[in-house]
Amino acid sequence: MKKSTLTFLGKDSGFGEKNTSAFYEDGKNFFLIDCGYTVFNILKKKFDFKRYENIYVIITHLHGDHAGSLSHFILYLWFLYHKKTIVLSHCIHIKEYLAMTGAPEEAYTVNSGFDEIEFIPTKHVPKMDCYGFQIQLQEKKIVYTGDTAELKPFLPYLKDADEFYTDASIEGTIHLKIEDALPELLQIQENHTDVFLMHLDNEITIREIVQDKLSFVKEL
Ligand SMILES: [Zn+2]
Ligand SMILES: [Zn+2]
Repeated sequence: MKKSTLTFLGKDSGFGEKNTSAFYEDGKNFFLIDCGYTVFNILKKKFDFKRYENIYVIITHLHGDHAGSLSHFILYLWFLYHKKTIVLSHCIHIKEYLAMTGAPEEAYTVNSGFDEIEFIPTKHVPKMDCYGFQIQLQEKKIVYTGDTAELKPFLPYLKDADEFYTDASIEGTIHLKIEDALPELLQIQENHTDVFLMHLDNEITIREIVQDKLSFVKEL
């Protein structure tokens, strides 16, 4: 199995046990990708946030399995650690969402102080803006789909990417159907980008389909 830069707190789809969410540590910086409703309890148990100077939370879209415990995490960091969370997101309702769910204004900033990220709009569900992104983490260029029904928006970013993290599902429709996407994902891997599958609705069947030709994300 390929070694991935990101470690995951979960890799399930929306109704699974552990929401898809990943983290990365770089000295005093902590990056979290998505903060769904199962994520807060894992963060609380596994991390000592005293260690970090900057805590970034990237939010791809506002479904509960991606943003469900975001305000709670912000509150926790503010009251227990006196730390201001830096939320990185292009969601048009992110500020409204944080206000409505009780994150104190002074406890977070949105899109400040980190320029090494570019959001990539994608198609997931109607009436909700959803994004993947490209991020530079030390020497690695990473492309991450978030929840997506299609690969197309990400292809221009993959030419020189080191790692590609993609939604993979059996059902398809609002997610990437692995059966249809497999040839293209294998091609991406052949072009020297390591492909990692996440947000799985049926891991056993997906493993049968990909037969060790692609990697799955590693969990904490
Ligand atoms: Zn999801
Ligand atoms: Zn979603």
